[in-house]
Amino acid sequence: MDLKVRFHELLKKEKAYEYAMQIIGWDSQTEAPRDCFPHRAEMMGILSGELFRIASGKEMQETVYGLYDKKDALDDITSREIRKAKKQLDKIVKIPENEYVEYMSLLQMAQRIWEDAKANNDYESFKGTLGKIIEYTKKFVSYYGEGKHPYDVLLDDYEDGMTMKDYDEFFNVLKQELVPFVRQILAAKDNHDYRFMEEKYDIDAQKKFSDYLMDVMCFNRNRGLLKQSVHPFTWGTSPEDVRLTTRYIENMVFSNVFSVIHELGHATYEQQIDSKWNDTYLTGGTSMGIHESQSRFYENIIGRSQEFWNTHYPKMKSLFPEQLKNVDAELAHRAVNRVEASLIRVEADELTYPLHIMLRYEIERMIMTGQTNVDELPALWNDKMEEYLGIRPETDSEGVLQDVHWSSGMIGYFPTYALGSAYAAQFYNAMNKDFNVLEAVKNNDMGKINAWLKEKIHQYGSSKDPKELLLSVTGEPFNPKYYINYLKDKYSKLYL
Ligand code: ZN
Repeated sequence: MDLKVRFHELLKKEKAYEYAMQIIGWDSQTEAPRDCFPHRAEMMGILSGELFRIASGKEMQETVYGLYDKKDALDDITSREIRKAKKQLDKIVKIPENEYVEYMSLLQMAQRIWEDAKANNDYESFKGTLGKIIEYTKKFVSYYGEGKHPYDVLLDDYEDGMTMKDYDEFFNVLKQELVPFVRQILAAKDNHDYRFMEEKYDIDAQKKFSDYLMDVMCFNRNRGLLKQSVHPFTWGTSPEDVRLTTRYIENMVFSNVFSVIHELGHATYEQQIDSKWNDTYLTGGTSMGIHESQSRFYENIIGRSQEFWNTHYPKMKSLFPEQLKNVDAELAHRAVNRVEASLIRVEADELTYPLHIMLRYEIERMIMTGQTNVDELPALWNDKMEEYLGIRPETDSEGVLQDVHWSSGMIGYFPTYALGSAYAAQFYNAMNKDFNVLEAVKNNDMGKINAWLKEKIHQYGSSKDPKELLLSVTGEPFNPKYYINYLKDKYSKLYL
């Protein structure tokens, strides 16, 4: 049989297993009763074993490497698919199985060790494990990285085409422009009363507001739904079925509001991908950074704009007349854009957030280039925190131990978070050349914005890589100046 036909048959089979596992996974995180898990784990083990055999077995290797050998003779679409498939396959095939199994059990343990270390503020008990994770990561990358610098390989794993050189340029601009600007904003006086933010807001009324927001953002309910989970996330099997979650906290009403808007950004991206990519390797959002650009565009550029609050605050006020009786749309807008130096990344505001990421990038880079070691990390972390945000963690739990990523083996992931926001600002600039975006927000016309996103970005799925997409949508390569300008403009107006 033709190699190409065989490849697509195998891929479809692989996708069928993934489909089943994704639906079960969704159920596990939202509605499954507690006692189902032991039996479910056994069933999932069998399914994932089958999936692994299809995705990396002899037949898949023969077809993917066979097609890769004649990639220049393939049509553009298939050649893209094969390049992606090969990248994935290399990681499985080139790492010796026994080392991979050792590493997986190390990660299992690492999770518990990290949790305990964080709870007990005891970095010493975690440091050896972290060192081992770093060693394994370096070793694995040397098997499939084709001689590239290990950190470049990892960065590219999380964001196609990105290298240290690209990120150095990006973060150098942030450091020069944003660090002094943030200091200026943090020094500005703000005498507004924000206590209303921490009052109790009825959960049922919060749910009504989520529902309202889904309509405002024009979410297609025939192709998706909203549920609750401990941590909000978006889950899609195909553009016809994209689900999202939020969480409700009584005294943090805005936590739900911005979780819903953020996840709707991810979900709308997935919903608007052309279904023609469904059975190919090119379905789904193209990268972490581009995905995050869509969620942050929704959350920050639209959802935290004055226009958005002018238009939609009356609805919120009608749901919470008591709590919001002395609050107008302007104060609500200020409240959701409040800037504070904080130690914890996940609680950081839009303006200081990228500095948290910059710190992590710089530390990862030093680890991967051998400029530091696990003994030095806590002090290095705290020094950088003080340099960039003017505050110093008193404990390692609030410092180097705060994130789950490194204990999960995710090195090279962090910088995509900052990249997403910067991409968003560059897309926003391009969109504004076609029409006035905030005018559309003011007129409650998200349909217009979504149509633009679909035409320029979403429909392509993964058939364009991030760099190509940026160039085709905005007419230039990645340029962080749009992000800096956007932040300076917005926060100068609010604070200076
Ligand atoms: Zn996100």
